[in-house]
Amino acid sequence: MAQTVCLIPGDGIGPEVAQSTRDIIEASGVNIDWIELPAGAGVVDEYGDIMPQSTLDAIRENKIALKGPITTPIGKGFKSANVRLRKALDLYAAVRPVRSMPGIKTRYEDVDLVIIRENTEGLYSGIENEITDGVVASMKVATRKASERIARFAFNYARSRQRDKVTVFHKANIMKMSDGLFIDCASRMHEEIFPELPYQELIIDNGCMQMVTDPNQFDTLLLENLYGDVLSDLCAGLVGGLGVVPGANIGDECAVFEAVHGSAPDIAGQDKANPLALIMSGVMMLNHLGETESAKKIKVAYDSVLEARNPEEITADIGGQGGTKAFTEAVIRQM
Ligand code: ATP
Repeated sequence: MAQTVCLIPGDGIGPEVAQSTRDIIEASGVNIDWIELPAGAGVVDEYGDIMPQSTLDAIRENKIALKGPITTPIGKGFKSANVRLRKALDLYAAVRPVRSMPGIKTRYEDVDLVIIRENTEGLYSGIENEITDGVVASMKVATRKASERIARFAFNYARSRQRDKVTVFHKANIMKMSDGLFIDCASRMHEEIFPELPYQELIIDNGCMQMVTDPNQFDTLLLENLYGDVLSDLCAGLVGGLGVVPGANIGDECAVFEAVHGSAPDIAGQDKANPLALIMSGVMMLNHLGETESAKKIKVAYDSVLEARNPEEITADIGGQGGTKAFTEAVIRQM
């Protein structure tokens, strides 16, 4: 039976990497009914919104989406479409595996981390006020409910995948109440339900220093929203950059799979984008749907294209001279 999947190409490099991912998933033989949905800068004139309500409704109904990046305007304009999507569908956990890739030489080998990011609150609450001329306050929101559920999710994730350790990065020495609540929920959850899992708390500045000097000491990272955003890009830098880090946004009802990277307007429309991060997000989606054979087939194919390191078949961000299309065709040929 066909699986129904919503596809949001997004903007910037989104349409290119989404087309690549769709072509590869189709070539793997899995039976998917795609519902293509509008979102992003290019749909505002027609729909009056960067994230149309009809798009949110369709994902809510069909439960699964694969999403390309959508530009978040800086300083003014629409609120982030990505943040709205995560909040509207209560996709409270971002799961971002960060792994060393075959054929991509970086400072460290065998990096194998998973970032679990709280996706619904923190400084992303968007509650900002100008108190008086030249004085602005931004509110960091932490609730026990959201902090407990993301902690439970992270420990369950680590336990079910036999991972070694859960580390929380925080700044509870300064944000004693908000980050204090976040680590209090994590440590209680650990003590009461997951005592067998090694657990560690690290102040984030020290954590970042340790991450770039010895990433292999870490395994599963539990982070509030903003720290999770920043650490995702930092960790991407350890394994070859934003072109190779996939992600999933998971809620109790729906799941939306998307790469960690943004819309990369500097290279949009030029056949330069590395589609691998979205392809890997597609593999996570296939595993989530139980389509493990197709997922495996795609992974084996892109691993061997990376290992072969034919410069014509890999993109510039990972040391090649090929384009989005050449990489896509190479993966399909390999399958
Ligand atoms: P956002 O705030 O939307 O997450 P960002 O500010 O993190 O976006 P990106 O759009 O992710 O920025 O781009 C950061 C840099 O990484 C840019 O130079 C961009 O070209 C590069 N980059 C991002 N994604 C890719 C990709 N898939 N392939 C090649 N280069 C990429």
